[in-house]
Amino acid sequence: MSESTPQEQTNVDVVIVGAGFAGMYQLHRMRDAGFSAVVLEAGDGVGGTWYWNRYPGARCDILTVDYSYSWDPELETEWEWSERYATQPEILAYANFVADKHDLKRDIRFETRVTSAEWDENAKRWTVHTDADGELGSVVAQHYVMATGCLSVPKVPDVPGNGRFEGEVYSTGSWPHDGVDFTGKRVAVIGTGSSGVQSIPIIAEQAAQLTVFQRTPNFSLPAHHGPIADERLVEYRDDPAAYRAEAKVSRIGVPFVPISEVSALDVSDEERLAAYEESWQRGELGRLSPFSDLGIDAEANDTMREFLHGKIRGIVDDPAIADLLCPTNHYFGTKRPCLDTGYYSTFNRDNVRLVDLLTTPIESITETGIDIAGASGAGAAGAGGSESMEFDAIVFATGFDAMTGAIVGANITGRNGLSLSDAWAGGPMTYLGLMTVGFPNLYMITGPGSPSVLSNMMVSIEQHVDWISETLDHLRMTQLDTIEPTELAQEKWVQHSNDIANLTLLPTANSWYMGANVPGKPSVFLPYPGGVGAYREACDEVVERGYLGFTLAGAGGSTVNDGVIRAVKPDVAAMLQVIEDMGLPPIESLSVEDARAFMAASAEARPPGPDVGEIVDGVLQGAGGELAYRLYRPDSDGPHPVVVYFHGGGWVLGSQESDDPMCRDLCVRSGAVIVSVNYRHAPEARFPAAADDGFAAVRWVASHADELGVLADQLAVAGWSAGGNVAAVACQQARDAGGPAIVGQLLLNPATDCDFSRPSYNENGEGYILTTALMTWFWDHYCDPDQRTDPLASPIRAESLAGLPRAMIVTCQFDPLRDEGDAYAEALVAAGVEVDHLEAEGQTHTSTGAVDVLMTPTATREAMGNALRGFFGVSVPA
Ligand code: FAD
Ligand code: NAP
Repeated sequence: MSESTPQEQTNVDVVIVGAGFAGMYQLHRMRDAGFSAVVLEAGDGVGGTWYWNRYPGARCDILTVDYSYSWDPELETEWEWSERYATQPEILAYANFVADKHDLKRDIRFETRVTSAEWDENAKRWTVHTDADGELGSVVAQHYVMATGCLSVPKVPDVPGNGRFEGEVYSTGSWPHDGVDFTGKRVAVIGTGSSGVQSIPIIAEQAAQLTVFQRTPNFSLPAHHGPIADERLVEYRDDPAAYRAEAKVSRIGVPFVPISEVSALDVSDEERLAAYEESWQRGELGRLSPFSDLGIDAEANDTMREFLHGKIRGIVDDPAIADLLCPTNHYFGTKRPCLDTGYYSTFNRDNVRLVDLLTTPIESITETGIDIAGASGAGAAGAGGSESMEFDAIVFATGFDAMTGAIVGANITGRNGLSLSDAWAGGPMTYLGLMTVGFPNLYMITGPGSPSVLSNMMVSIEQHVDWISETLDHLRMTQLDTIEPTELAQEKWVQHSNDIANLTLLPTANSWYMGANVPGKPSVFLPYPGGVGAYREACDEVVERGYLGFTLAGAGGSTVNDGVIRAVKPDVAAMLQVIEDMGLPPIESLSVEDARAFMAASAEARPPGPDVGEIVDGVLQGAGGELAYRLYRPDSDGPHPVVVYFHGGGWVLGSQESDDPMCRDLCVRSGAVIVSVNYRHAPEARFPAAADDGFAAVRWVASHADELGVLADQLAVAGWSAGGNVAAVACQQARDAGGPAIVGQLLLNPATDCDFSRPSYNENGEGYILTTALMTWFWDHYCDPDQRTDPLASPIRAESLAGLPRAMIVTCQFDPLRDEGDAYAEALVAAGVEVDHLEAEGQTHTSTGAVDVLMTPTATREAMGNALRGFFGVSVPA
């Protein structure tokens, strides 16, 4: 690596774009590690966001004690914040204080805008072009770090007539450095996001008249400005280092935020209101959700919305104006909530008017003001006709081309001439939010796919910078030149991030998180919603596993460590964690009696599943005597097709009731009667009792069709796990016996073979509830070793699989039984059987049956219901 300083050359180890908090810390780390580095910054000072956003009232909305660097512990005593939420000038002063203390400005080239960059595959270098003359016109570097900010490119206001106005025009995102005096002026503010909400009360105090143009009202809570309360500083003062460490593993980068496990719908109205009132009085973004489900459950969220609507109506005198200020088109928290000082009461002032753009949209900005369409209602211009308003100044508080604007706008061309704007045409694709395929050695700080704007960004910035710095150090130590994510790793990271977002209400809003504020921008959820701590764990694990999901290359060749860092679906992973935290004894360590009691107790605690038309308990004739069954009938006129269903439980556990939610779900989805059979269990009734009972049950149902109100010629079988084994075996027995006719078999995670040597036993044998040890226990109870290869125990071993009913086979990625299920599907296909084989990604042996507990397996059950409909020739509902 070069020892020379960047002043003497245009070749450096690292080019960093942006001198906000991210670029400053990145520069510091590079210098400390002995890399030559230069920062290129469009502005003429450090601070980024806090350099540009100098509008009146600009402040942070994370307590400043938390929104502070942790990498220099001396700052804890050298700098003291004067308020809970410091003002922009104070935060900018802090940025300058740090830059001066660490002599950072020496390596920052101000007033230097990066215009483009391209990757040179031969030289393994980036060439970065700027608008500067001389040697900084272009800079060559091995590593290219975009510290360009998520909210640094003000959106070009998409308002008709933009550019015509001949008076003063301001944008909150690039405010004049010497301030603006609105005294005596007629001012328009367009936009009511955080920037509008912060600036409107102050502009209203100065201006002769203020007109606020609102498209979407936002939720805002009082910031309660003033010094921070002593009680909020207890942990920090006690041990600043521990406090910062806690922030790093927290959910949003703010430490000691209690995480509730209580639903907003499970408490009394008084309790709920008291909790919301406390949030209102506290005024901290990180502590606004006193309940577990405000972010995921619309009904729960409505309770918070109602509370906040009540607050707005309590402050705003004119009920019609209050109505307009109440957000109704998005759930609380799905757009970033604002913290304000006197925002709502500003609308009680005589010199303030609110224009609702939903009823009276802007027709055009004119040379002298703004024309709006006419409409009736509060804030409207009056029925019919349009209204022209004259202004001295227009303030655009219309937001940013967030998260991707600055990176894409820097015109980056990667390997094989691929431009980033083309690569991201359908939405940004990143691995960990840090890097993207096709652009080696290009790093993003708080990029799309990282927690970024959903967190205290100071914490996220530091984590990214640390990760990048350590990666560069690793490459240098191992004499490697380049690092780039693999396609698979990137695709699955994006999917993982989307999977989490889809478990929440976040994607339901037209927010800038979704890119919805910029016309034409792809609609994808941009930040990673899994939390700061979980994200950090993933990044660390990637490194621990030898840069999993990356290709690292150097003179000695390249190493592709392809793989997926978070392959288990997020809700499934959360459930596994809860179970692990419970520290339960392994089932196989229990007696059979205790294991059955445990399963029955667990079943008591689960949601019941959907309502069906009718549930009837009965008794049918098995191979060795009577067997109990439970029949689930759809809520529609019969007779219906029928499915004989066999529950899971390793031939040892379970009953006709034990898969109750799944049976209800299948009944509703398939429109068929489900008859769940309590076949005999081991060890009391060992092999082949279950197999014999399965076939006997099928015959009994076929022969009692009229009595049951089902169609004898529309009979299918289904089963989960050991029940899948019983169902598969019943099909073979029916084929060999010449009946009854079975129109299809639905096998969910079936046990098809006694062979434990397939890879899935190795890969998934521990940690996913059904373990290899438990499967061993089941087989030992069920079947003598010398009987296990009998096709009645291991149906895959049948002499022929030809002539069996068409099948749907579901296997799950994290199931020890995955490979034997896959093998059975393949063997059926080879035998000429029509098979629909669904390999459920990220699911486990038990997750599909977790009806109304997990959301991600719903698609699998829907496919199962549709498969049953297909067996019966019934159309699938739209
Ligand atoms: P920035 O501070 O945005 O710095 C990026 C820099 O890159 C800019 O100076 C820009 O000029 C430069 N740049 C970009 N493109 C180029 C180019 N092509 N060439 C040269 N230079 C370029 N986050 C919080 O966590 N808490 C808060 O309370 C909070 N309040 C905020 C308030 C406002 C008004 C805004 C807009 C954002 C706020 N944020 C807040 C988010 C804030 O952006 C981050 O906290 C943080 O300051 C971002 O730092 P950064 O260094 O990553 O990016
Ligand atoms: P924003 O949240 O995107 O708000 C922009 C506002 O302008 C919205 O009300 C939007 O309406 C409106 N708008 C956009 N285009 C419009 C158009 N063509 N016509 C009419 N109205 C239009 O932007 P922001 O207020 O600058 O805040 C962005 C983010 O920066 C915040 O969410 C926050 O993360 C950060 N920030 C933080 C603070 C703080 O308190 N610390 C302060 C400022 C910013 P729609 O909602 O209908 O699109």
